Amino acid sequence: MRWLPSRMQTTTIKAACPHDCPDTCAMLVTVEQRGEKRVAIKVAGDPTHPTTRGALCTKVSRYLERTYHPDRVLHPLKRVGPKGHGAFERVTWDEALDAIAARLKSIAAIDPQRIVPYSYAGTMGLVQGESMAARFFHRLGASHLDRTICATAGAEAMNHTLGTRTGPAMEAFADSRLIIFWGTNAIASNLHLWSFAQEAKRKGAKLIAIDPYRSSTAEKCHQHIALLPGTDAAFALGLMHVLVREDWLDHDYIARHTLGFEALAERAEQYPPEKVAAICGITASEVEALAHDYWHLRPAAIRLNYGMQRVHGGGNAVRAVTCLPALAGHWRSPAGGVLLSTSGMFNKDMAALQRPDLLAGRTPRTINMSTIGAALHEADPPIDALIVYNSNPVAVAPQSPQVAAGFAREDLFTVVLEQFLTDTADYADYVLPATTQLEHVDVHGAYGHLYVLANNAAIDPLGEALPNAEIFRRLAAQMGFTEHCFVETDEEIAAQAFHRSGTTANFDWETLKRDGWQRLAVPERYAPFADGGFPTASGNCEFISSSLAALGLEPLPDYVPPYEGPTSNPELARRFPLAMISPPARNFLNSSFVNVESLRATEGEPSLEIHPVDAQPRGIASGDRVRVRNDRGSFELAARITDRARPGCVVALSIWWKKLARDGRNANEVTSQALTDIGRAPTFYDCLVEVERSG
Ligand code: SF4
Repeated sequence: MRWLPSRMQTTTIKAACPHDCPDTCAMLVTVEQRGEKRVAIKVAGDPTHPTTRGALCTKVSRYLERTYHPDRVLHPLKRVGPKGHGAFERVTWDEALDAIAARLKSIAAIDPQRIVPYSYAGTMGLVQGESMAARFFHRLGASHLDRTICATAGAEAMNHTLGTRTGPAMEAFADSRLIIFWGTNAIASNLHLWSFAQEAKRKGAKLIAIDPYRSSTAEKCHQHIALLPGTDAAFALGLMHVLVREDWLDHDYIARHTLGFEALAERAEQYPPEKVAAICGITASEVEALAHDYWHLRPAAIRLNYGMQRVHGGGNAVRAVTCLPALAGHWRSPAGGVLLSTSGMFNKDMAALQRPDLLAGRTPRTINMSTIGAALHEADPPIDALIVYNSNPVAVAPQSPQVAAGFAREDLFTVVLEQFLTDTADYADYVLPATTQLEHVDVHGAYGHLYVLANNAAIDPLGEALPNAEIFRRLAAQMGFTEHCFVETDEEIAAQAFHRSGTTANFDWETLKRDGWQRLAVPERYAPFADGGFPTASGNCEFISSSLAALGLEPLPDYVPPYEGPTSNPELARRFPLAMISPPARNFLNSSFVNVESLRATEGEPSLEIHPVDAQPRGIASGDRVRVRNDRGSFELAARITDRARPGCVVALSIWWKKLARDGRNANEVTSQALTDIGRAPTFYDCLVEVERSG
């Protein structure tokens, strides 16, 4: 930590943004000493960090509003009203921990698998995320949680194709001549990469967005290709068809570094542009033109994000797109290839962080977090206790009516570690007050760049809030867990976060705390697969995947139609003719920040964007209250008539807290718990609905 005295008696603390965002910004927190108290007075981006470059997004620029928000939960709370009503009384930490430990012990005596952790990326920190918490649940023998709600379809698809998750460095996009934003609104969810893309644009690069929605990113690109949701794999196969037909192929790269070209070419043969155009709701010339650009504008970089994988065929879609750079030889340049995530480059020491040895040979069942609604009703043995941290499942999990009904079960014991009384916390038997990033220590990898970061605590915890790791440390003591790992401090855990080998050979916690960030040990001109070297079983980019075949899955990329679409389910499509997607609102991050008034005010009220050709026959005008419905549920919001939503597709920017919406509902009322083809992930954007005026 570097202390910088000034006339104002302020200090600057090196920190890291904790949120679920590929940019993982390096932050500088200015702290003023007021008597005994340290008060954070400013957060800013670290100008020395190579991708943050001094800028935070609007959301995290308001982080002080979050930390000092009057609604912060600052004391342990015990439920006094019906579940879901959010009525609590203040209790002491001792009372809360006594009661929780007693209940968990009695459930564990029957079967510890009846206790289920539920967590995701409320913080991306390795200490306040899954370290002490994982140790606690391993020691207990609780159910495992399959953490699928965001990234596993794409992550597993990348692993099966490239052998890992990496791609061009964020900074290298400045040197690309073609940048394709595929299923991503970078301005909302990858702002710093967008800034490198702007540099490329100024140097003459062409920017193309592929997205059913004309997002703010698509509006600023040279071209926007508006596919129907869930048809991305068909489009990628159509591009391959043209590349093969025109012999726009890097034969040398294909011969030396890929597996299964002939089979892939045969598969692509089945996707001529006219057929692809019909599937995707575009023109054949859009397929032809993009294939032409993809070969001639070199190097070309594709920025994939998770939007395209939230459908039945999401894994195959990522596989298909991921094959493109090897066909055209774009991996040869640092500024070419495809980037979904760099998370495979961080050499985390998960065994040290999470201590799976504490399972002592037990093999608990696994609950998929994406189907928690069903699991709360159907799991056998039943779920008797849920410990929720870093997540807000009542708002964010699919098919919310079933999720909420599960959380309302009187026999379910629910503990929620939270900063605010979220939709989920309202169902808790106990709410335990958790610190924000300014109040605790953490260490971070990233999934959009190539740096590790330290988060030093800028201020003391507010009220009686505690870091997640400390809450689990105290719970472990209350449960009688005596292993040494349960008394390790947060700093001791942080110091073990990465192996001291490979890309993190230089990791040293003391140095990282002082400097704030450190680049992985990768070459300055990072081009991960310029000379092949794919860490797959064959050592090649696997167009045909033996690992998928071993799982009994289709080994070649293919187009898997949405569950809910006119070809796969014509009867459903007749009753519910519109495809709904619910991508991130720019001022929210999943469900974080929805309760920050200034950000919510910028976002306005929950709204549904609908194309004039879909609005007119339904008698819907801009500003009308409309009901979006299907067989799973319904919710209401204000209509916005706009051609930003393509015909046949409606857009509900998300994820609103249900209790902050006028009707107490959000888009997950209608989403389903069906899972992706690869990765067991949710299919939020595979969702047919009907829309009508609500009167
Ligand atoms: S949310 Fe993303 S862009 Fe915003 S400060 Fe955090 S890491 Fe940076």
